[in-house]
Amino acid sequence: MKFIVIGAGLLGLSSAYYLSAQGHRVTIVDRHAGAGLGTSFANAGMLTPSQAEPWNMPGILPKVIGWLGREDAPVLLRPAALGSMFFWGLRFLHHSGRERFHRNAMSNARLARFSLAALHELRQKEALDYGQICRGSLKIYRDREAFAEGVSLANLLAGSGVTPNILDPAGALRVEPALQDVVARLVGAIHFPDDESGNAHRYCSALAATMSRQGVEFCGNVEVNGFVLTGSKVSALQTGQGDMEADGFVLCAGSHAPALGAGIGLHLPIQPVKGYSITVPMSGSGVMPGMPVVDDARHVAMTPLDGLLRVAGTAEFAGFDLTLTAGRIENLKRVVGEVFPAFVPEPTMDVGAWAGLRPYTCDGVPIIGRAHLGNVYLNTGHGHLGWTLAAGSGKLLSQLVSGITPDIDPAPYSPLRF
Ligand SMILES: Cc1cc2nc3c(=O)[nH]c(=O)nc-3n(C[C@H](O)[C@H](O)[C@H](O)COP(=O)(O)OP(=O)(O)OC[C@H]3O[C@@H](n4cnc5c(N)ncnc54)[C@H](O)[C@@H]3O)c2cc1C
Repeated sequence: MKFIVIGAGLLGLSSAYYLSAQGHRVTIVDRHAGAGLGTSFANAGMLTPSQAEPWNMPGILPKVIGWLGREDAPVLLRPAALGSMFFWGLRFLHHSGRERFHRNAMSNARLARFSLAALHELRQKEALDYGQICRGSLKIYRDREAFAEGVSLANLLAGSGVTPNILDPAGALRVEPALQDVVARLVGAIHFPDDESGNAHRYCSALAATMSRQGVEFCGNVEVNGFVLTGSKVSALQTGQGDMEADGFVLCAGSHAPALGAGIGLHLPIQPVKGYSITVPMSGSGVMPGMPVVDDARHVAMTPLDGLLRVAGTAEFAGFDLTLTAGRIENLKRVVGEVFPAFVPEPTMDVGAWAGLRPYTCDGVPIIGRAHLGNVYLNTGHGHLGWTLAAGSGKLLSQLVSGITPDIDPAPYSPLRF
């Protein structure tokens, strides 16, 4: 069969790879000229089953209210976004109930473990190099209550194969010697030895190049405007370059999926959640971290990538606005100063500031599978876990498309669950 995949981000590329591996003819279309230039471009670079829990955890509402109007808050609601996210917001809160949250966290964790295993196979088979580091990740805590919460969450995820090593500050320093400047302020840390990291954009480029050699077609600079419906099926995409026909269509347009899906009656509960990153070299004397370090108190991740430090974080509800707000970039620099002072950039240095939109579903679980129209499939809504879940989501989708018994239960990710 011939498939067109809409979107050349982590999810579109993974979907295309596994569909092609099953013998389907695949074309990928994207409005950008190359692969991985949307939200997949400069993320925190972590593959973390250890962070599988959705962000709408029990108790989120009072926290968000407390953060209202604070530019340095980890989660920030901009008034302009409130109208468009009202109903999604109610459902987001509904899913923060303890039982739903646990169920959704376990669904993500299962997919994340499956995804890492799929990535290992794919990486070996195609000899992909994207600066991968397989030493785990470290979450550091400055507050006893938050540490206790972190430990209980890690123990919950341990039920689906995540291995947490609980550490005191001295133990954290042994695992990550680069923490020497912050260790005195820590109350503890959790090392997740099975997590990995690497450069997501390099991964996208390498996977796209591999697929191109295998016959997958890439059409860049193509804007998809809608679908052509013939009876109860989609027969073609309407694009800026004319209609493109295929037997099946896979929607992997990230935060833009709801707008495209609305044209064929799909109501996808996905909101864009803006995040920022900067990428800085070591400018003072110090030790290069060997693995991603997540500062729980600041909600910021710091990942060694290709000899630089990628610093990423913050969740801002601001619609589709990609403006680089100076205060948010300054927050990231401030956290670097607290944790890894050797990386504090000179005030005039270009820090590669970037913002991307995480496609966030109202339950915090991605949408993978067939839509109500027979030949339209979805692989989107992966929120803060798009890379962690990419390979597994692509593999699972290809199994559903081809009618192969899926390796994991697809029900929690079904588009029909809403
Ligand atoms: C600051 C930040 C840090 C993050 N850190 C991590 C992390 O450490 N680990 C992790 O697992 N995840 C992380 N994420 C999340 C992860 O980056 C995303 O979940 C992931 O990139 C989403 O991939 P995607 O393929 O769904 O979307 P995208 O990468 O946005 O791809 C969608 C593509 O569709 C194209 N498109 C959309 N509409 C159209 C149209 N109409 N016509 C043509 N093309 C179209 C876009 O151009 C785009 O290229 C982070 C995100 C942010 C913002």
